[in-house]
Amino acid sequence: MESRGDQVAEGPREKCGVVGVTLEDRAAARPLYYALYALQHRGQESAGIVTHDGFQQHSHVERGLVGDAFEEGDLESLTGSTGIGHVRYPTAGSLDESCAQPFSVSFKSGSLGLSHNGNLVNAAEVREELAELGHAFTSDGDTEVIAHDLARNLLEEDLVRAVKHTMGRIHGSYSLTIMHDDTVLGVRDPKGNRPLCIGKLEDGYVLASESAAIDTLDGELVRDVRPGELVVLNPDGTGFDSYDLIEEENSAHCFFEHVYFARPDSVIDEELVYEVRRNLGRKLWEEAGVETDVVMPVPDSGRAFASGYADAAGETTADGEPRGQDDDGVEFAEGLMKNRYVGRTFIMPTQDERERAVRLKLNPIKSTVEGKSVTIIDDSIVRGTTSNQLVKLVKDAGAEEVHMRIGAPQIIAPCYFGIDMATREELIAADKTTEEIRQHIDADSLSYLSIDAVADALDSSRADLCLGCVTGEYPFDVDGEATDRDVQRPVVGSDATPADD
Ligand code: AMP
Repeated sequence: MESRGDQVAEGPREKCGVVGVTLEDRAAARPLYYALYALQHRGQESAGIVTHDGFQQHSHVERGLVGDAFEEGDLESLTGSTGIGHVRYPTAGSLDESCAQPFSVSFKSGSLGLSHNGNLVNAAEVREELAELGHAFTSDGDTEVIAHDLARNLLEEDLVRAVKHTMGRIHGSYSLTIMHDDTVLGVRDPKGNRPLCIGKLEDGYVLASESAAIDTLDGELVRDVRPGELVVLNPDGTGFDSYDLIEEENSAHCFFEHVYFARPDSVIDEELVYEVRRNLGRKLWEEAGVETDVVMPVPDSGRAFASGYADAAGETTADGEPRGQDDDGVEFAEGLMKNRYVGRTFIMPTQDERERAVRLKLNPIKSTVEGKSVTIIDDSIVRGTTSNQLVKLVKDAGAEEVHMRIGAPQIIAPCYFGIDMATREELIAADKTTEEIRQHIDADSLSYLSIDAVADALDSSRADLCLGCVTGEYPFDVDGEATDRDVQRPVVGSDATPADD
């Protein structure tokens, strides 16, 4: 029987980067374009910008990477000093053109542009209600549902109340940048599942999924947008207003942003991603260190983990004893070279292509591994394709022993909220024990990091993290899946109906 959980998993999911800019007296298009470049890792399928010149909206949305999606003339035609942008993550299979963003539309209540990162769990329900009221939809994505709901509310109430009502209506994860006429807004869902932050530029303000985009614009990170907060940038670029519209007792920040998805140079929820990864590496040594001749990362995802791991290995032995004076611990070395022109392996739709892609992407450095015992560090195992290929590659290059250490817990369940992971059937840890996975990838040993170590490294309690992919218990209701609210999370006002209206 097909549960709604399956439908959510298979339907369009928004795995993306969002940005919004308001400047005092300068066209917003170019800063938006640079910010999208900085967020390119969050989505490679399509890129788009919508600006407003005080009179009307201008939009350019195109398939492909940021550098390919815009030509000089496109940027020039995007006039106006306010705007939003979006990069969309690839999914296996073809692009549904109608889902490319920002979604822009004009209603009686004004023009709207929306960029969305996340995934709603009740989009179908809201869409049906709005369709019954006469709204006609042009795409099957969540974002248009949010746009229609907001446009409807804007007919009857002011901006802040309208957004609050929409936030009370939609459930799931969303970090949004919205343009209502020439006003740019930022909204983060009440659990803060996906990141969103505010930055100050010399002559304006910026909202972005990650602070690396603010750095690219030579701006300064002001702070994260709070869970349940609406931020309204002044159209003249001089400041912003903040409204905490929905408050919940616990947040549900996605830990996988820090482990894999975000750039290491970004600060998310006050934690520098690079330092979190190094910390996870240190904990990995403490929990599951193995004395080998060399430790080497899977580039680039395992690099910060491996450096933290090797650092900790220089201080204590695998048994937790302080090192002797002449004992440096495990040597940190680059043992795998990456062909940087090969994209993320997940873009390959079939398993056969994915396996070939690993070989195309990574090549061992023989002198690092030949005749040695080797520890390979990666951030995560999803399907097991990379580890399986890597162990073979490194053994073929002459390694005597190959140990795998993974800087995240076993991924046992799909992500419904913004990370393109895999279906449950494809996840190797969903139905295999660690020993069975070790045998499958043919490693001499295999260890993962514990969930508690992840919470520790993030300086957070488990109750404030979304750990759905490693526990199978989700912070939002997904039919057919357990919710962690029953298990560990007391949530106040989870239905998020506007309290004071
Ligand atoms: P797999 O080969 O399927 O086990 O995937 C694990 C590798 O893919 C690791 O090197 C990760 O860094 C990387 N990875 C983890 N999550 C994702 C994701 N959502 N999209 C693309 N790559 C990922």
